[in-house]
Amino acid sequence: MNGLSLTGIYKDFGSVRAVENVHLDFAQGELTALLGPSGCGKTTLLRMIAGLELPSGGAIRLNDDDITALPAHKRRFGMVFQNFALFPHLSVRENIVYSLVISGTAKADAMETGERLLDLVQLKGYGDRRISALSGGQRQRVAIARALAQEPDVFLLDEPMSALDAKLREDMQVELRLLQQRLGITTIVVTHDQREAMTMADKIVVMSQGKVEQVGSPQDIYHRPENAFVADFIGRANFFDGVVENGQLRIADTVLNTTPAPAFLNGSGVRIACRPELPCLDREDVEGSRLNATVTFVRDLGPARDIHLKTAIGPMIVEYAQGEDQQQYRVGQETVVTLPAEGLHVFPEEKAVL
Ligand code: ATP
Repeated sequence: MNGLSLTGIYKDFGSVRAVENVHLDFAQGELTALLGPSGCGKTTLLRMIAGLELPSGGAIRLNDDDITALPAHKRRFGMVFQNFALFPHLSVRENIVYSLVISGTAKADAMETGERLLDLVQLKGYGDRRISALSGGQRQRVAIARALAQEPDVFLLDEPMSALDAKLREDMQVELRLLQQRLGITTIVVTHDQREAMTMADKIVVMSQGKVEQVGSPQDIYHRPENAFVADFIGRANFFDGVVENGQLRIADTVLNTTPAPAFLNGSGVRIACRPELPCLDREDVEGSRLNATVTFVRDLGPARDIHLKTAIGPMIVEYAQGEDQQQYRVGQETVVTLPAEGLHVFPEEKAVL
């Protein structure tokens, strides 16, 4: 295949299995985000791809060449680390062309590439500056330009935004994505931030405890989570534990007007997830399961409002976009909530352990 592929990759550190049996394909020109909570193995996976860590088993291929045991300096992979790892005593230009100079590129060619990259990352005119005289966002651009200097086959970034403040981080996510698309370079970004992954990625790999939980587009991962872990980790969800009874879902004493997939046998325990923006309040025109509810809390979030409810199936949050519904809900108010049948995700009970 054209691109990078991992087959049965795993990594043990002593008795700890940090990465477990990973099979992944990274298509040429695609940006993939490795997303998951702290300690799930995403950095270890990236380091194996980079050649900085040897897998305990499995194979890594680039355009069908087996590169599993190829040392990092022999792979044409550009890396940007969390702290950018720039040389503080060198100028911006020297940082960017460093790898070219030490690999024997003629000085004039290296300088020309340096100018082109300064332009590319919008740092024209900053070439002679010291690294210490740059802002966080500018340092990140230098790190990106340096990683791109050798025209890498694959671009690897480990938490590239974590040293930046929230506002700058959002700007740089867009900027980096546009640059990556313009260059058409296969890119893998490690992040624990789902917004970052959703903003930048063609494809998201959700990981937990060393394993891949789901691979899909941002839309897939959000709207079609394959298990309760993904539904919980990506976006927000109300969760209810129930049972399948006569082809319907029962939660506590309430039978929902919802038919789960035929794969769920009668009597099997299930975990049900519902995104907070899906249920409606006081709407007779929406099909679904109607439940009496009492408002327990109202949270105004600016563009949206969260209405917290107490119902017979448990507590839930309903999110309203501001302006979508002008009714003002107040604590203690009685209301009727409708759970639309198609908005519910039903998972087997054994996947419910979070
Ligand atoms: P974070 O977001 O916190 O960086 P991560 O998802 O990148 O986490 P890893 O750093 O890959 O996770 O770690 C995965 C697991 O492997 C953890 O349990 C970690 O303690 C363990 N681990 C990582 N590197 C080593 C090492 N060199 N020696 C021993 N254990 C390690």
